[in-house]
Amino acid sequence: MFAETKASARRQRAKPSHSFSGGFPLVDRKLCLDIPLMKYCRFLLNGSASYGLVEPSAGQNPGQNNDEITRLLLQPPHESDGDVEGLPSRRMDRIPLSEASLLPPVEPSKIVCVGRNYRAHAAELGNEIPQEPLLFFKPPSSLLPPGGTILRPAVSTRTDYEGELGVVIARRCHQLTDADDVRPYILGYTCVNDFTARDLQKKDGQWVRAKGFDTFCPAGPIVTDGLDPWAGVQVETRVNGEVRQSGNTRDFIFPLDFLIRYISQILTLEPGDLIATGTPEGVGPVVAGDSIEISIEGIGQLCNPVADQPIATVQTAKSEPGKSEPGKNEQ
Ligand code: MG
Repeated sequence: MFAETKASARRQRAKPSHSFSGGFPLVDRKLCLDIPLMKYCRFLLNGSASYGLVEPSAGQNPGQNNDEITRLLLQPPHESDGDVEGLPSRRMDRIPLSEASLLPPVEPSKIVCVGRNYRAHAAELGNEIPQEPLLFFKPPSSLLPPGGTILRPAVSTRTDYEGELGVVIARRCHQLTDADDVRPYILGYTCVNDFTARDLQKKDGQWVRAKGFDTFCPAGPIVTDGLDPWAGVQVETRVNGEVRQSGNTRDFIFPLDFLIRYISQILTLEPGDLIATGTPEGVGPVVAGDSIEISIEGIGQLCNPVADQPIATVQTAKSEPGKSEPGKNEQ
């Protein structure tokens, strides 16, 4: 089928180019450049969370982001087995991406994070280079949409941004080996801010508090397969417009295929699960009133303001944190 051919060809475009155990030979990227990129987002349409395909508009402003939501997906992308464009969809009135009420573009059963996957970042916090991937979780309840306000809890005095490339899983995978090609298991990529209460991270043996507060995982704005982390993707973080982090996935200590196989040896990755692949050097604190922008080439910008959590909204034992919709805090 043509759709499957396109999906397969796009996966070929994202060939691992590192030299490592279980790698695959390179394919000439030029062979695949005429294949349209897959992009989708999750957004509110008439009050309902929906998924939509994103395409460039025939806009009159070259150089600006003219992407639009063009089709409503009738099934979630993580149910596509890797072929998002093969999902049933229907036409809709086009909405400029910049005007949409975006939601986090993922609904993961878990968010698996990789710590210290860039040498320079490990060094800046005085840590050893890890001999094997350092993993931890963020809860799905920490997800925050593009534009949503990150809330600094009163219990922390130092909260840091961490710009990262996020990987969205396409298919269930478990116990992958060096003989397995990981690319069919990747649905696409998005921007993630692994927001962290640094003081609590140092204080606690486990990082549940440091990494797990509500709003501590901004993600978005879209998911796309139009980039190649093995060849190198630039990850940049700006605070109030000033560049604070500028790293490249070429500098991963553990490349993506190694990470996915390693994680799958521990737990079953489900379709839609999110992996945050680690942050480059340059992490630092933000305070209320700051604005964080994470940019990844091929994906776009994930922008979130920062505020102090109002005391009145601190969760109590009677409230139901699990009931909170990730999009609720977006304004
Ligand atoms: Mg991190």
